[in-house]
Amino acid sequence: MSRPPRAGIPEAEAGGILTIDLGALSANWRDIAGRVAPAECAAVVKGDAYGTGLESSAQALWEAGARTFFVALLSEGRRLRERLPDAVIYVLNGLFAGTEESHRELRLRPVLGSLAEIACWSDYCAGLGTRLPAAVHVDTGMNRLGLAPSEAVGLAETREEIGFELALLMSHLACADEPGHPLTARQLEDFRALAKLFPGVPASLANSAGSLSGTDFHFDLARPGVALYGGKARADMAPLRPVVTLELRISQVRDVHAGETIGYGAAATAREPRRVAILAAGYADGIPRLAGSSDARRGAEAIVAGQRCPLIGRISMDLMAIDITALPEDTVRAGDLVTLLGDEIGVDELARHGETIGYEILTSLGRRYHRRIA
Ligand SMILES: *Cc1c(COP(=O)(O)O)cnc(C)c1O
Repeated sequence: MSRPPRAGIPEAEAGGILTIDLGALSANWRDIAGRVAPAECAAVVKGDAYGTGLESSAQALWEAGARTFFVALLSEGRRLRERLPDAVIYVLNGLFAGTEESHRELRLRPVLGSLAEIACWSDYCAGLGTRLPAAVHVDTGMNRLGLAPSEAVGLAETREEIGFELALLMSHLACADEPGHPLTARQLEDFRALAKLFPGVPASLANSAGSLSGTDFHFDLARPGVALYGGKARADMAPLRPVVTLELRISQVRDVHAGETIGYGAAATAREPRRVAILAAGYADGIPRLAGSSDARRGAEAIVAGQRCPLIGRISMDLMAIDITALPEDTVRAGDLVTLLGDEIGVDELARHGETIGYEILTSLGRRYHRRIA
């Protein structure tokens, strides 16, 4: 399998430049690690480390002090193991049939999310005559992965029969981003009761929002993801430091006469003469199509020559337009860069215009950008 080189596309050829600030990533991890101490702070690096690049981001997190990592898939675990030979790595999506041997070879710990997976890992360990480590995931209200609480109670009652090392008991919060949501309190209470049935087994409940929600949620291990990468974890808290900056290249600047329209569907009309800059990126680069504008609806904004300018018209696959009429003439030229994401405009602002969430903006960051690791 060939992977694109770290920098991806050469800068001169790329429609945009994506900069990943590993110093900010490390600072965000240390910030959360400080808040959850004495609990351990892990790092969730699934989805190519939320679009920031698995290898480089995981290396930075390791150097900041993270020792436990969560990926979604075995394939991500394999890449991570190559980079971090000594990390503890959990695979969240569970144990797919036939992957037991690969987990053992790569020293990956499956997060077992059903009685069938538990039986499978137990049998595999029995066949080897060793007790390999794994996590057990218990569902407390998400209804996604995990044992039903009654199944977890049954597992606790027959604990001596478990044929593997139960290294972690975990559950996942569904609504912790919304402060005061009643499901969060119920999940906490249920998980606390379940954890008591497994004395001596480390417990983990908190995602980013949980990590930022006080000590009740921290248990033994916190599992932050999005907050590390500068996304908003709780509706009532500002994000930590931004990690990604996205600059898009201006392909050309053009004048649009009054009464003409811009882009597909003729969705945006120039009521007066407008000057627009055409940017060399679009929804194929992960920019949400819904962040464009029409005559009925405002779109996202980008920063040009220090000033916010609105997107105008629909976003195309590889192109989009911004309205630069408010800027003095000749301040902007073809080849200049426009900032779509950065210190002033975060992933959550773009997400709001695109009717999505910061997570989706991050994990959709395109493969056609020139990537710069700062
Ligand atoms: C993705 C994920 C996390 C991290 O969630 P964030 O909201 O990004 O902090 C933690 N635990 C599990 C099980 C997950 O799937």
